[in-house]
Amino acid sequence: MAEEFVDKRLDALVEGIVRLSSGDLSARMEVSPARDSMDAVISGVNLLAEELEVLYEDLEQRVRDRTARLHAAQVELERMAMYDSLTGLPNRTLLRRRIDDETLAAAAGVQPAALILLDLDAFKAVNDSLGHSAGDQVLIEVGRRLESTVRESDTVARLGGDEFAVLLPQTADEIACEIAERILYALRPAMIVSETSIRILASIGVRCGEAGQSGEDMMRDADTAMYVAKNLGRSNVQVFHPAMLQATHERFTILEELRQAIPAGQLRVHYQPLVSLQTSTIIGAEALVRWQHPDRGLLYPDHFIGIAEESGLVVDIGEWMINAVAAQLGDWGDVLDGRDFAVRINLSAAESRAPGLADLIDRALARHAVPTDRFIVEITETSLMTDPEASSANLLGLRELGVGVEIDDFGTGYSSISYLRKLPAQAVKMDSSLIEDIVDDPRLKFVAAVLQLIEAAGLLSVAEGIETADQARLLNRMGCDYGQGYFFGRRQRRQ
Ligand code: C2E
Ligand code: CA
Ligand code: CA
Repeated sequence: MAEEFVDKRLDALVEGIVRLSSGDLSARMEVSPARDSMDAVISGVNLLAEELEVLYEDLEQRVRDRTARLHAAQVELERMAMYDSLTGLPNRTLLRRRIDDETLAAAAGVQPAALILLDLDAFKAVNDSLGHSAGDQVLIEVGRRLESTVRESDTVARLGGDEFAVLLPQTADEIACEIAERILYALRPAMIVSETSIRILASIGVRCGEAGQSGEDMMRDADTAMYVAKNLGRSNVQVFHPAMLQATHERFTILEELRQAIPAGQLRVHYQPLVSLQTSTIIGAEALVRWQHPDRGLLYPDHFIGIAEESGLVVDIGEWMINAVAAQLGDWGDVLDGRDFAVRINLSAAESRAPGLADLIDRALARHAVPTDRFIVEITETSLMTDPEASSANLLGLRELGVGVEIDDFGTGYSSISYLRKLPAQAVKMDSSLIEDIVDDPRLKFVAAVLQLIEAAGLLSVAEGIETADQARLLNRMGCDYGQGYFFGRRQRRQ
């Protein structure tokens, strides 16, 4: 009887161990009332099973946690690959994916999507003058305004830098244009960043939907339209049409020809006289580049300087100008003896920060035995902002040589007198737009104030674009020191 009892327990024990080892950790064996050594073994095994079950559950929980974390990381990685970390907006990759989805849907007969690209105007100046975190805040705010201007089903994306895009699924042409205008309007109110009120404008390109076009073409076309908008003086909307591609092609051609123009000797210098408004005597000249094109005739800078600036070729043009002006001053030599006469040349942003600028000018002047004070560089505030340290080092280097520095186009952009004081400049040239209708009373007061500020900063003032005797007289009376424009010297009208 006792043996049978033992055998039964033994069977149960074996079965229990088999269940346990097969993974069923809930298996338990009954203990007999005998409480003998066999029961002790059974309770031992039960306890072990209990322990194992707890451990196992703990392990499972840890595996579940680990899996969840891995999954979250995976989701985060995907998000990072698809979204811009600063604004949280979809990035270029995700936009491309959504464009491709739309083009597929359009191929199946759905109304095609429209694409809007926008590039902020003068964003770099914000970054450079107020710092990167201010720039970041501007980008975030732009993203916010874009999102609140369009529907939830539209995609607002940041493509990088200061470029954004809006994809409008199933959108008719007129609606797309209307939304582009609405975006321009939404960006208009000033933003307060770093306690500074900033106005952000954008150049906008629109590619209206067209069945059968690829996502890549859509992006390219919107980009082309945006580029045209930028070149048309910024803050405007341009809708793509095929002739624009032709224009882009033309820019390429011009750039290639311009590269050749320098070694081929097709560049010329036009000297526009600068006059003392008090005495009407010539005190110098501004050197302006011209391009004697073999087929197109004489080209003015607005045909090619922009292209040269974008491509960096402007640095080569500048070098050519420096040498040409130095050679001319050398030729004039004795004629200038005892006269107050200096030639100004224009420096673009890339030139003003180019290493070795002072050296280049020094060598050119030395080669032609020209005194350094006959040479002056004109720079704009905006061009200095692209790399303030490198440009100020260059300007200080030039001042040490005795070369003059003057501020060009004052009164446009970020004009600030405190900034003027920090620059090693001797004169400030007011932008011609300021004096255009100076004969009008409100404008007169403004120009008078600007002239007073320039004087207060201890600098000489120059007015450019003087076309009439009235303008010259008024400016002289207001204390402007020098003037230049079609009124003085030969009138050379643009073609
Ligand atoms: P800017 O430095 O403001 O030059 C003044 C422009 O106004 C010149 O045009 C000049 O011909 C024009 N102008 C002169 N008098 C009058 C006038 O009475 N009325 C009007 N409406 N305009 C007048 P330009 O030569 O076509 O030059 C345009 C711009 O191209 C210049 O503006 C300057 O920013 C740039 N540029 C010219 N030459 C060079 C150069 O050698 N290097 C660089 N980097 N830029 C240059
Ligand atoms: Ca100038
Ligand atoms: Ca100017």
